[in-house]
Amino acid sequence: MLTILYDGAPKMWPAYQPALTTALADAGIAAHLVLPDEVAPEAVDYIVYAPTGPVQDFTPFTRARAVLSLWAGVERVVGNPTLTQPLCRMVDDGLERGMIEWVTGHVLRAHLGMDRHIINPDRIWDQTAPPLARERGVTVLGLGALGAACASTLASLGFPVTGWSRTPKSLPGILCESGPEGLHRALSRAEILVTILPNTPETTNLLNADTLALLPRGATILNPGRGTLIDDVALLATLDSGQVGQATLDVFRVEPLPADHPYWAHPKVTVTPHIAAETRPSSAARVIVENIRRDQAGEPLLHLVDRSRGY
Ligand code: NAP
Repeated sequence: MLTILYDGAPKMWPAYQPALTTALADAGIAAHLVLPDEVAPEAVDYIVYAPTGPVQDFTPFTRARAVLSLWAGVERVVGNPTLTQPLCRMVDDGLERGMIEWVTGHVLRAHLGMDRHIINPDRIWDQTAPPLARERGVTVLGLGALGAACASTLASLGFPVTGWSRTPKSLPGILCESGPEGLHRALSRAEILVTILPNTPETTNLLNADTLALLPRGATILNPGRGTLIDDVALLATLDSGQVGQATLDVFRVEPLPADHPYWAHPKVTVTPHIAAETRPSSAARVIVENIRRDQAGEPLLHLVDRSRGY
């Protein structure tokens, strides 16, 4: 009988308890599913983790074989010095579908110029039609589980899509770039830019005054990745100068975004409150349990985080 600790957000326990119980039963795994105050740390075999859970010191969990994150982004745990167990991040169908829908919706909104018609107080009859998708360059920074799925969907709609990642990639229908020169080429094609990168030391302030200047004038930026990807002062300056035409931001350095932050009031910024993609308990529970099954069967864990890379 395994002991599995739920160290996620306490408010999500009513959703995760039945989802994990069902997934464990379906996989034929006998387990106690417990909360931190219900078990001695040295009796725990696996830790289901989110940064919003109570456990932040993993030292006493001497028997734990893995820490299984409910979040895709692991920047808040990857550098935890008490964590010696393997760390797996969340790759979940619900998360992927949510991200595809948020990104596609906001790319089409920018591409079709929807805001002009939704907010048109002067009743201007402007018959300028948008170009076709095939005439609008879209770039996706990050070609991981979420970025690649979004890039493929956008390509299927006809957009010429450039993708950029740390290591070289080959994806059908996507012009794949990597490295610093690849970033320059990718940005220069980005009439609409989507950033779906993790928060690491290498990606911090990737969009700054120098890189924002490489975008076509008036480009739209969509950031559902992490707030740290963007130098906020530089973005505000390029919005004011017209170099960037509009930004739709889902993630921020400080969340919730403080009420006095200039993004809230800026006429060229749309704030969405970190809702682009959410881990769904029913599908995420199956991902967690599949990793427990694999580990118990001696198979390699899925979605292992590389601590040295930070994602
Ligand atoms: P992933 O599978 O780990 O993919 C990360 C991608 O970023 C990979 O393509 C990776 O390149 C690339 N990358 C990392 N560091 C880079 C660098 N220094 N230069 C260039 N490319 C770099 O992650 P994911 O599942 O797609 O998720 C991406 C991020 O989305 C998460 O880390 C999280 O921050 C964010 N997220 C946001 C929400 C939301 O609701 N807003 C929800 C879920 C996730 P390689 O392929 O070469 O490794």
